[in-house]
Amino acid sequence: MDYIGRFAPSPTGKLHFGSLLAALSSYLDAKKNNGKWFLRIEDIDKKREMKGASENIISTLETFGFEWDGRILYQSQRLEIYQSYLDDLLSLKLIYPCGCSRKEIADSGNPHGIEGAVYLGTCRNGQKKTEKNPSWRIRVDEKPIRYIDKIQGPQEQILSRDIGDFVLKRADNVFSYQLAVTIDDDDQGITNIVRGADLIDSTPRQIFIQNTLGLATPSYAHIPVATNIFGEKLSKQTLAQSLNVDNPTLHLWQAFKFLGQNVDPELTHSDLNTFWQFAIESWEINQVPKSRSMPC
Ligand code: GLU
Repeated sequence: MDYIGRFAPSPTGKLHFGSLLAALSSYLDAKKNNGKWFLRIEDIDKKREMKGASENIISTLETFGFEWDGRILYQSQRLEIYQSYLDDLLSLKLIYPCGCSRKEIADSGNPHGIEGAVYLGTCRNGQKKTEKNPSWRIRVDEKPIRYIDKIQGPQEQILSRDIGDFVLKRADNVFSYQLAVTIDDDDQGITNIVRGADLIDSTPRQIFIQNTLGLATPSYAHIPVATNIFGEKLSKQTLAQSLNVDNPTLHLWQAFKFLGQNVDPELTHSDLNTFWQFAIESWEINQVPKSRSMPC
């Protein structure tokens, strides 16, 4: 099967070291396998978007020498497609409207799962508060979801125990990350997903949606997440420094090393072309460590 990979940043901030790791690892794995690599801007949640972030991410990737295939996909232009999948799920009675607020769920006393209190399906048989615009949840079951992550090894979740029925469309009418990413990965024919381990808990929900809609499941590899000195994931909120576009090769070598790859010290002051040639040829996904406490 032909390899198709992707990088799917949310434009909530500029490209930083953490997002560079996801871009680089997905790119090298695609190139090493003579595959395609797509760029998708996950700009579905306009409230979280930072003005100018999409343009910054795209131009930084260009400066760093990334070359994507085809045109860039913008989630904000695909709302009708997400809605049509949601309508299919509704006609199959697999989703239902829910009037519970986040606070009500948090205060419900329900058992704690992976992301706080598990949603045990309060509105499954009728929405509690009809006057409120509902969110839409999918019914999950007790069947374990298992897959083998290429970096993190065997994974298993039981959605009814660990998460509960989860949201596909929020009460403010924004489609959830879980739904949009699953549909887009399928529509773009993605065969291999390489992304940050901060998303590993989401993968079973995406596999559940794939199974429900009869979509193929790609292979998954979750790279270690870069943290700051306080052990927090690098993000706009934790004030990750944006990358210095005047010195792309330095950042690329640092990221390559962080990913457990062998660096040739003689080449670390080389130009971009030398980096890419060396990195694509010598990339070994099996060398990526499961976790790393600090960026080097
Ligand atoms: N848009 C997500 C993020 O920036 C990543 C989505 C994915 O790779 O599945 O965190």
